Amino acid sequence: MTTPDHAAAVRRLEDEALEFTRQLIRIESVNTGDLATIGDGETRAARLVQEWLGEVGIEGEFFEPHPGRGSFVARVPGSDSSEPALLAHAHLDVVPVDARDWTAPPFGAEVRDGFLYGRGAVDMKHFAGTLVAVVRHFARTGVRARRDLVLAFLADEEAGGVWGSRWLVRNRPELFSGVTESISEVGGFSVPLDASGRRAYLLATGEKGPATVALTARGAARHASGLSSENTVVALAEAVARIAAYEFPVARTGALEAFLDAFGRARGRAFDEATLEAELAGLEIAGPLVGAGLRTTATPTVLEAGGKPNVVPGRASALVDVRVVPGQDELVRATLRELAGPDIVIEERAWFRGTESPASGAFVEVLREAIAVEDAQGEVVPYMLPASTDNKHFSTLGIAGYGFTPLRVPLDFDVFAQFHAADERVPVEALQFGARVTARVLERA
Ligand SMILES: [Zn+2]
Repeated sequence: MTTPDHAAAVRRLEDEALEFTRQLIRIESVNTGDLATIGDGETRAARLVQEWLGEVGIEGEFFEPHPGRGSFVARVPGSDSSEPALLAHAHLDVVPVDARDWTAPPFGAEVRDGFLYGRGAVDMKHFAGTLVAVVRHFARTGVRARRDLVLAFLADEEAGGVWGSRWLVRNRPELFSGVTESISEVGGFSVPLDASGRRAYLLATGEKGPATVALTARGAARHASGLSSENTVVALAEAVARIAAYEFPVARTGALEAFLDAFGRARGRAFDEATLEAELAGLEIAGPLVGAGLRTTATPTVLEAGGKPNVVPGRASALVDVRVVPGQDELVRATLRELAGPDIVIEERAWFRGTESPASGAFVEVLREAIAVEDAQGEVVPYMLPASTDNKHFSTLGIAGYGFTPLRVPLDFDVFAQFHAADERVPVEALQFGARVTARVLERA
């Protein structure tokens, strides 16, 4: 039942979600990935979160494993101690900006025509601000969530989580004891579901695993004028070209099946296996994203060889960015070895396994209900995130990650396109919607 008191409390929740998001955007917590030049933005942001939560009696712990790289973690006890805990996490760092490409100040947090502009508006200070606002709302209104809530505000996600989630998981795993699921980025945004204007709220139930593989060709360096077919540059180039041309098979993950089922029903016809990629490409907003999750990709990105035009070098090397569909690790390793051929040495510089969480079940039902209450035209639809988040570190503790930071946006507004882009922005109404949905999820999960 909606009482005047309740309506005022919800309005305050919405106001605080906006206000905290704006204050966090104004902190330039840019993650350059370079410890020598990085500032103390993450620490200032984490301290601010600590202060806001402290105001309603929520104590937590501040961590700073390297100067300036601050994170904050708090646990709010639930009403049912027999239930497993729920983790909600948000990273406090942002990627760099080139202010010349922006029409609004990147760290100004200006509101123009109903949109909040600023680096972190959707990636992902909006969710950090929302989480703080929600638990303050709980404290003010006497709401006790069913499960323990572990709230983590993290440094360094944009450079692999080394000083944030990875450090905490390795050094303080007990902070996350009893946690079975988490919510964080990347998902929860509305996209067109069908021609009638219904919306799908894309829920990331899996993430591809990011890997970096080095290829090296070795031989005796020699003068380029000599007759010889042995050439490290050519051997490497051929291996790189073979890998780039190869197409890994489509992986029918649980996330993909759930997506095809929901969109197939909405369109009134199933997707055709033979034309799946073309059909997906035709879907507005969701298409390219889901298409990129269909199969493992291996993309050459760095080449290093030679220095003098008249010398065949003794060494030529390349880096390949690999995004592995969950469960395909051994298949992908074997395929890359075969494509590279016997003369190329392969070395794994990094290899994270992809993650896959159940695309249905009690937790997903809570998300569905929370959306249904706030948007009768909305439906939660699972998908596979082709990128990776802090969830890859939390998954090593057995935590099932879900990408769900709910935002109801106009049908032509592409939230995914805001990530790392100039003029990153979010509709203020979407933030308010997100605060209401998140409050419902955290209370009932
Ligand atoms: Zn992010």
